[in-house]
Amino acid sequence: MGKERCTAVVLAGGQGKRMGTAVAKQYLLIREKPVLYYSLEVFEQSGVIDDVILVVGSGQIPYCKEEIVGKYGFQKVRAVVEGGAERYHSVWAGLQAAEAFLPDYIFIHDGARPFVDGNILEHAFEEVKECRACVVGMPVKDTIKIADEQGYIHTTPKRSLVWQIQTPQVFAADLIVSSYRMLMEKEQEYLEQRIQITDDAMVVETVCGCPVKLVEGSYKNIKITTPEDLKIAEIFASEKQEEKDVKK
Ligand code: C5P
Repeated sequence: MGKERCTAVVLAGGQGKRMGTAVAKQYLLIREKPVLYYSLEVFEQSGVIDDVILVVGSGQIPYCKEEIVGKYGFQKVRAVVEGGAERYHSVWAGLQAAEAFLPDYIFIHDGARPFVDGNILEHAFEEVKECRACVVGMPVKDTIKIADEQGYIHTTPKRSLVWQIQTPQVFAADLIVSSYRMLMEKEQEYLEQRIQITDDAMVVETVCGCPVKLVEGSYKNIKITTPEDLKIAEIFASEKQEEKDVKK
């Protein structure tokens, strides 16, 4: 039997308001290449991933096709589609496009996380084959407090049980597509209850009540969100280049 088909949905449809730049954060440059280039390169090189669906912002399809997919020759990018107002709208657009490739598993990844690596993809793939739903993350280093509405500490969760969640978030295709379909059908109810959907695990947990396994990623798998993240990214990208040069 051949390998199960794995399709990655890479999200680059956000505006990145917290970055405070005119250009969306996924197009800012790290060592002269756009943030988005780095994760697409990892998917391109990984034996785990068969296809990539790129989700971009309104009106950005031609730019992304030319300046990212074409320019860097990403062969696995099979479709570039337009996202929506919230992250979950963009994921839904990506999932609908992904269905055409009849994937067994879908890897949902933030294009704003340039330092995902091949080992993370392989670990997540091994795990999802066992448990159908897993997300990459790392145990937190800081103590985390849950605040109340007045800005006082409400509780202190046990640190060893608290994880910061990254991407990729990886699911059996039928599970994630049906969970998102249900989410979109019940969107109004969730909005009324003020439930904020910020990741994909939440959709599977909330809509299906399905258990989601945690898989260790890496502390380097940061999301570029604010200007200081770009400075750290320059260092990680330089290290990556040095590693490549050593291998040559
Ligand atoms: O806003 P946040 O940092 O959580 O975004 C995570 C990822 O989701 C980013 O890669 C961003 O481009 C993407 N996104 C999207 N569509 C949106 C909002 C965010 O594709 N409407």
